[in-house]
Amino acid sequence: MPIQTELPSLPAGPRRRAAAPATTPPEIAARALLAHERLCRAYGCPIAYFHALAPLDELVSSLLSHRTRNADSARAFRTLRERFPSWEAVRDAPVGEVQEAIRAATWPEAKAPALQRTLRAVTERRGALDLDHLAAMAPAEADAWLQSLPGVGPKTAAAVLSFSVLRRRALPVDSHHHRVAVRLGLIPAGLPVGPSHRVLEAMLPPGWDAQQVYDNHEVMMLHGQRCCFFHGPACGRCVVLDLCPTGQERVGGAAPGRDGTGRAAVPDGGGEAAG
Ligand code: SF4
Repeated sequence: MPIQTELPSLPAGPRRRAAAPATTPPEIAARALLAHERLCRAYGCPIAYFHALAPLDELVSSLLSHRTRNADSARAFRTLRERFPSWEAVRDAPVGEVQEAIRAATWPEAKAPALQRTLRAVTERRGALDLDHLAAMAPAEADAWLQSLPGVGPKTAAAVLSFSVLRRRALPVDSHHHRVAVRLGLIPAGLPVGPSHRVLEAMLPPGWDAQQVYDNHEVMMLHGQRCCFFHGPACGRCVVLDLCPTGQERVGGAAPGRDGTGRAAVPDGGGEAAG
């Protein structure tokens, strides 16, 4: 689908908790695509996948990563792999041993029993501890199956489908991605991260492949890490300032008329917890 270059109007979203919109207004979908194109130029799409894990490994990795810095959740994952010979051993171990192995992650006392519950549920439903059957499912069906597991929400399910070797079309939304989407007026400010998955994915062209959807997540996340900071977003050097109602409000409507060809010369904020 061609990217529209005509700028949509910039209504600010409501500030209170909001329900998911039933459909995406065309001007919002156009803004989402134009922002995607600008951010892809800035951050260099296609973006290489950072993982090539088996689906079950990715599920464990994703469960550990909630509200945890990337480096810390990676350390917790590595330690689990080193201390236990298999995920079956993690599932059946005394919970305190799992908790100790993942102490680099946030809330190990909650994540250890939750991880074991999820692994037990996979075993009960599959008759074995593996997720190989997901490869034969349509993305929506696989997403629903994953989200039926205890402790698995839309972000974890999408991470398994997109980031693992399955490489399926799915859009994870972390806290950086969500913040940028809210500020761009793509979703209402009060729409929580969970329900925002369906809304943001519905804005993407149905013909996009898994790499393009992955790129969309990555560039929105990178922009949140490197420019659209939680405190003090750097609107003055933002490549989507002219599309952004929040940025327009912050700079007093003085849009610089970017053509979107410049890279965002921003410090590397990678490793920030994304939730
Ligand atoms: S203009 Fe400002 S608020 Fe809008 S996306 Fe850019 S950095 Fe974020």
